[in-house]
Amino acid sequence: MTAQYEVRGEVAVITLDNPPMNGLGLSTRQGVVAALERAVADAAVQAVVLTGAGQAFSSGADIKEFGSPKAYQDPNLIAVINALEASPKPVVAALHRVAMGGGLELALGCHYRIAAPGTQVALPEVKLGLIPGAGGTQRLPRAIGVEPALNLIVSGEPVKSERLAQIPGQKLFDRLAASADSLMDEAIALAQAVAAQHADGSPLPRVRDLPCKHPQGDAYFQFARNMVKGMARHFPAPAKCVDAVESATRKKFDDGMAHERELFVNLMMTPECMALRHLFVAERAASKIPDVPADTPQRTIAQVAVIGAGTMGGGISMNFLNAGIPVTLLEMKQDALDRGVATIRKNYEAQVKKGKLGADKYEQRMALLSTTLSYADIAQADLVIEAVFEDIGVKEQVFKQLDAVMKPGAILASNTSTLDVDRIAAFTQRPQDVVGMHFFSPANVMKLLEVVRGAQTAKDVLATVMAIGKKIKKTCVVSGVCDGFIGNRMIEQYSRQAGFLLEEGCTPAQVDKAIERFGFAMGPFRMGDLAGNDIGWYIRKRRYVEQPDIRYSKTADLLCELGRFGQKTGAGWYDYAPGKRDAIPSPVVVDMIEQHRQDLGIAPRQISDDEIVQRLVYALVNEAAHILEEGIASRPSDIDMVYLTGYGFPIHRGGPMHYADFTGLFNVAQAMKRFAQNPHDDARFWQPAPLIQRLIAEGKTFADLNR
Ligand code: NAD
Repeated sequence: MTAQYEVRGEVAVITLDNPPMNGLGLSTRQGVVAALERAVADAAVQAVVLTGAGQAFSSGADIKEFGSPKAYQDPNLIAVINALEASPKPVVAALHRVAMGGGLELALGCHYRIAAPGTQVALPEVKLGLIPGAGGTQRLPRAIGVEPALNLIVSGEPVKSERLAQIPGQKLFDRLAASADSLMDEAIALAQAVAAQHADGSPLPRVRDLPCKHPQGDAYFQFARNMVKGMARHFPAPAKCVDAVESATRKKFDDGMAHERELFVNLMMTPECMALRHLFVAERAASKIPDVPADTPQRTIAQVAVIGAGTMGGGISMNFLNAGIPVTLLEMKQDALDRGVATIRKNYEAQVKKGKLGADKYEQRMALLSTTLSYADIAQADLVIEAVFEDIGVKEQVFKQLDAVMKPGAILASNTSTLDVDRIAAFTQRPQDVVGMHFFSPANVMKLLEVVRGAQTAKDVLATVMAIGKKIKKTCVVSGVCDGFIGNRMIEQYSRQAGFLLEEGCTPAQVDKAIERFGFAMGPFRMGDLAGNDIGWYIRKRRYVEQPDIRYSKTADLLCELGRFGQKTGAGWYDYAPGKRDAIPSPVVVDMIEQHRQDLGIAPRQISDDEIVQRLVYALVNEAAHILEEGIASRPSDIDMVYLTGYGFPIHRGGPMHYADFTGLFNVAQAMKRFAQNPHDDARFWQPAPLIQRLIAEGKTFADLNR
């Protein structure tokens, strides 16, 4: 049973008991209804307390039931709430730690509520592209007032119980308990008191009976609509939150409930909601590695060393300092160390100036940072992350040194973006301790961390790195070893298509605009200018010399030959006014592209935005299918996580694999075959990957491969 029942004196206690967060799964819902029936039938029971075991009152829907018919099977949540509300004996909800989503809605169906201080209260459904669907939009405004309720519902953010208790006239909490420890005693005392009070048969208070009005409803809801329009560009749910709360003020309770239901059901079917729910599940799945069990022992990481205090080394260090883990930075020369530390200071000072970081915290973090020029000083570190030049010779030197000095059991990680982690591991006598930790720039900001699993990386090393990644608040995705790992290997195909599009008739601005309209944070050319076009240039020089049979557009090389590396040189695919970041289309670049087209003998054609988007996005999809087939990624949803957290893929589209499923793999493959007919493109690349063909033949989708 996932709901417990006991009788204490004349009070029955129903305890939600579905670890870890008392999700309201079917068996819990059944348990609550059965327990309530027992309490009502027991003549010795005068009142009921409903509470949660362990870490929460309840976090709402049970994640394990997500998307399964069980989530809606009777008694559904609304039926449970109705049963509690209709109980002839008073029901007191005793809330602690977490009362969110369906959990809060359940409490709102009880007659009385008492909360421990510090209880996190939220209706976070909007974050899944939904509105609360079990009366939250109708009862919460009645309990705390229209404006505070709408703020809570539209933001989805948690608010502490003591703050809500301060709202004048609020009816959400009848009492705040003195502490979490005294909550149950106080709840039982409250239950006894209200039982005595209603012994005469006087009606029990119900939130649904409270009035719900806004004195300037028309103006307020208009204002609220304008606010959410600005905030939630691609998502319909926030505006529907406003509609539902407005109904609470204008309709009878049951009619408002019916409206809430209609809005909820319609939102459930929107692509945006499907994408957000996919993201929610994908995020949790990414932390699981199929052959590394959750109980794999982990190594202790109490001290970290970072080799190289450049762009990446500094940002990587900040992640650990932020998490309270001491870091030693190692460089070859003192001035490089000084520069690195100065950059870290500058970044923190900017945060202090913006009020995002307290001055005391800044000092605490800097106090955790030490520097050295000597490997002897880092020998005792539990984890060392190498972030030196991207050159296999330099990596060899560093890893041989590390192998010589590091204590046994230390984890040796490389932040390489393109080099072979197995080769790096082979520079040591302990390849089982070597792993890739591929951070993205700026490393202290970007969420994504690709954990690169070498052929010999030990399972406990992987488990440890995944756990430490979580501790420093990264989204970790495991990638096997290949050129570019998951993310950069795919982006290579996307960039290649962007280059071909220029040769065939597009301008950089046209390509960027089309993909930005699709929802990407930045198009490939604005991105190149920001990151520095020279980086790709060096990589191409290596890659395409090694693989001369691969076709690619030389346009980007021509750009670099003009010294147009991007924002840092004041000119790239676009022109930039001094000190400004606005991308201004450049006549020089347009001329350069036209000249290049003439040299190739290509007559330019009009290319539609649809074709631009499809070629860029399906290039990602086809390469990803190869990556899956090769076992480089464990599941399609991991690839979506890489793109959503590291590459600015539009969240409301759910990532390239989810988007391909949504479009239909048959349609995607048809488009690929069309692109293969284009004489200026790469026909070989556009053969749909065997995995895509197999899924189509079996009537399956990428989602069927998620595990
Ligand atoms: P960078 O040039 O900014 O910094 C490298 C630093 O390493 C320099 O400060 C240099 O003095 C130091 N260094 C070089 N050889 C050393 C040695 N033998 N011992 C100690 N220190 C040494 O480079 P970066 O952009 O920070 O890149 C570092 C690594 O991170 C590379 O492998 C790169 O591929 C990878 N990476 C870079 C990015 C990015 O966007 N810049 C993103 C992900 C990964």
